[in-house]
Amino acid sequence: RSKDAGGGHYHAYEPQLHAHAEERRVIEIALRKAIEKGEMHLCYQPVVSAEDASLTGFEALLRWTHPEMGVISPAKFVAVAEEARLIAPIGEWVLRTACEEAVRWPSDVRVAVNVSTEQLHDSNFVTSVISALSHSGLPPHRLELEVTESVFMREGSGAVAVLGQILDLGIHLSLDDFGTGYSSLGYLSRTRFSTIKIDRSFVQGAARNAPESLAIVRAIVAMADSLNMTTTAEGVETEEEYLMIRRLGCRKIQGYLFGRPMVDTEARKLFSTLTRSAA
Ligand code: C2E
Ligand code: MG
Ligand code: MG
Ligand code: MG
Repeated sequence: RSKDAGGGHYHAYEPQLHAHAEERRVIEIALRKAIEKGEMHLCYQPVVSAEDASLTGFEALLRWTHPEMGVISPAKFVAVAEEARLIAPIGEWVLRTACEEAVRWPSDVRVAVNVSTEQLHDSNFVTSVISALSHSGLPPHRLELEVTESVFMREGSGAVAVLGQILDLGIHLSLDDFGTGYSSLGYLSRTRFSTIKIDRSFVQGAARNAPESLAIVRAIVAMADSLNMTTTAEGVETEEEYLMIRRLGCRKIQGYLFGRPMVDTEARKLFSTLTRSAA
């Protein structure tokens, strides 16, 4: 699953942690019990409009705190869960929890949930999405599912058809970590993504004025505009990055500059301050 096998300049700088065999085994055993033991929770990171920094939604990010091992990064345990075929039940729990928490937010705030490629290829996936919506009462247009280019890499896998069913339900789709995978651009015209998320590596490069990053961000924004999709810049940490990304025409921003991932109760405090300041 290594993203940087191509050896090009633009491999993902995101930590793709590869656990050693023994560590993987320990993680796998603990993962099997993590949900029932209540060790998992979701954090939510704000996504804001680049124009005026107003809140447009939150991305749900899974957090696991093991009593002895401490906090384990999803960059590490999600890969283990995928390999151990544990991602389906974990992903279902994430969907259900995100929908249940988001239904209590203001009605114009969306929640984005990451869906791993393995999950999407599970035959029960669409059913579990429908059941998360109906149990929570969250309207489908307030749910966004984030997938990566890797869903398109398995030819004949039916991924395009599954994504079509998701779109038919009225759910939004976004393409995560764009530019770090190896998919054919043809898929972009066959699946109606609402949003392309520009990987943090390009955001950082553009802010450093690296010509290749600038060219890539410009190209992604132009392509998204002409395909009627919007763009979100991932991992904006500094004012310089924000200004550059805004100048390049990116519509939405996500990053530490505008908010770190926070628990549901903190997110809800944010709504009440926003409401107060608007009043
Ligand atoms: P992602 O979907 O690309 O999520 C964005 C990651 O960037 C998150 O890392 C977030 O905390 C981090 N981030 C946001 N703003 C900044 C910033 O300004 N600077 C830096 N350095 N990082 C920033 P996190 O939470 O560790 O998640 C890592 C990855 O794990 C996610 O990448 C996603 O691929 C996966 N993941 C997280 N939650 C889930 C989940 O519920 N299901 C699945 N299948 N995957 C998940
Ligand atoms: Mg994501
Ligand atoms: Mg991402
Ligand atoms: Mg990313």
